[in-house]
Amino acid sequence: MTAQALYAHLPSVDLILNHELQQPLIHQFGKEHITTLVRQLLEQAREKIREQQQLPQWLTLNECDGLALSQQKLARINLFSHHLAQSTLPLQYKGQRRVFNLTGTILHTNLGRSLQAEAAIKAVTEVMRFPSTLEYSLQQGKRGHRDQAISEQLQQLIGCEDACLVNNNAAAVLLMLASLASGKEVIVSRGELVEIGGSFRIPDVMRQAGCQLVEVGATNRTHLKDYQQAINENTALLMKVHTSNYMIQGFTSAVSEAELCTLGRAMQVPMISDLGSGSLIDLAQYGLPSEPMPQKMLQDGIDLVSFSGDKLLGGPQAGIIAGKSELIEQLQHHPLKRALRCDKMTLAALEATLNLYRHPERLPCDLPTLSMLTRNLDTLTDLGERLVPYCQQLVGQHFTVTMMPSMGQIGSGALPTEQLESVALCFSVNNNQTSYTLNDLADLLASGEIPIIGRIHHDKLWLCLRGISHEQDFIAQLAQLSLPNHE
Ligand SMILES: *Cc1c(COP(=O)(O)O)cnc(C)c1O
Repeated sequence: MTAQALYAHLPSVDLILNHELQQPLIHQFGKEHITTLVRQLLEQAREKIREQQQLPQWLTLNECDGLALSQQKLARINLFSHHLAQSTLPLQYKGQRRVFNLTGTILHTNLGRSLQAEAAIKAVTEVMRFPSTLEYSLQQGKRGHRDQAISEQLQQLIGCEDACLVNNNAAAVLLMLASLASGKEVIVSRGELVEIGGSFRIPDVMRQAGCQLVEVGATNRTHLKDYQQAINENTALLMKVHTSNYMIQGFTSAVSEAELCTLGRAMQVPMISDLGSGSLIDLAQYGLPSEPMPQKMLQDGIDLVSFSGDKLLGGPQAGIIAGKSELIEQLQHHPLKRALRCDKMTLAALEATLNLYRHPERLPCDLPTLSMLTRNLDTLTDLGERLVPYCQQLVGQHFTVTMMPSMGQIGSGALPTEQLESVALCFSVNNNQTSYTLNDLADLLASGEIPIIGRIHHDKLWLCLRGISHEQDFIAQLAQLSLPNHE
């Protein structure tokens, strides 16, 4: 066929756009965007004709001998539509999406950390939809403070005098340092100069806040006298940082918060602590390793503690600073507070989450994250037994699926060395029967509407069952997948 004849086989932009198959795409992405895509695809087709005197593969009809010209045209529009829909897939699937986090790390920073309680979800949608008392006091009929309600909740829950809420715990540390110690010295143990996820390092935050870091002690051992000797008239704060993502073991010694508080009071230097995760309840009651509790720290006499809202607390991303009202007052009046303050959705979710702590006995049920962390092994084993057949059906003879004991972790720096006993679905390659690899399988699992994220480790792909929250959704997702044609 001549090039001229081939060009005549291309459908027009209008015919394609007006075809019913295109209407859902136009509805989703807008007419302008889809028109541009159609023009681009047509241009690709013309280029193919120009250079190789043939239609591109995706516009080639397999059986067209018996077809009338008008039928061929319709068939080509169908082919074109199919190709167009595929070209929009990257558009549909970019951005933030729901996934199954079966990595074994429950509070996974890359996968959104804590899952929030239904009460929090409800509270957020309410303030999204309607005006609210964000900064309004109904009692006084005038302007109020956006942190007030949560501060009062925290006073009851953890016995602080006052509280200040900011965007995250990194912001909390920055605000404490900038408000209370700018231009002055802050004393920290060498064993606690933490880096979290690369971009948050205590020495860097100190510099940003305009403070001078005074390191004391050695990496493995710091004594009370080290702090004592470093205090001078320029000292603004003593600071403890919870070593959330590592642990110093062996010949070690650290000074307790209580001892440091006594020293701080004697020398009239406030003492602050970055707890990282912090937990408002004693996790030991569930057989989990204990994390520092803010209420205990405040009892020990710490002036300010800070911790995250979306780690063990189980709420939204936020930084919570609690302690002495005189210091909180200074934080509230620092210009950075305005830049770091929480929005109404965060505050609504946090308030609803904290309300749940009035009924601690119900928390493992009400807080999805705690619910996952406290699921017992029998429950996970039963779940695994139900799921193995669906997984085996998906992978056929190419992989073998078994249930295996596994080790997960809480994540987000909480309880770094402690591992969380768990159960996983474990896929191994049947080498002599397949050319698929574990990476192919990982790609397949991640390719669905709700991607399933597992972990490749020791020549196996592991799906940790502790992270499955909606079993039926998971089964439905597996059913939608199939291994691509190979060979
Ligand atoms: C996680 C963590 C932070 C940072 O908290 P974000 O809420 O992620 O900003 C700071 N310090 C410690 C010790 C942490 O564990």
